[in-house]
Amino acid sequence: MDARLGDVIDDFCVKCRRLTNHSVVSLLNGAAAKVRCRTCYSDHDYRNEQAPPSKKDLKKAELFNAVLSGVAPPSAAPEAAAAEAEPKKAGKKPGKRAEA
Ligand SMILES: [Zn+2]
Repeated sequence: MDARLGDVIDDFCVKCRRLTNHSVVSLLNGAAAKVRCRTCYSDHDYRNEQAPPSKKDLKKAELFNAVLSGVAPPSAAPEAAAAEAEPKKAGKKPGKRAEA
């Protein structure tokens, strides 16, 4: 479907945060490249009616990746790290006492 300049199409407007009517203001290979929101009159690239990933979604993806990377190493690793940290604490206490 070829778009034409001035055609009104639906697209997601980040300013209105919803699908709104947009006018085609720029074409690329017969498809809308840039559009202007008919509600707030801001120009932006045509998003194919897709909302950009929100910060929430990005954070979710980050958490998901963190969980994935946490599952990959053997489960013994966190325990070993904790065991290593404890003797260090115990070693510091007698040293402080000796100074005082
Ligand atoms: Zn808008």
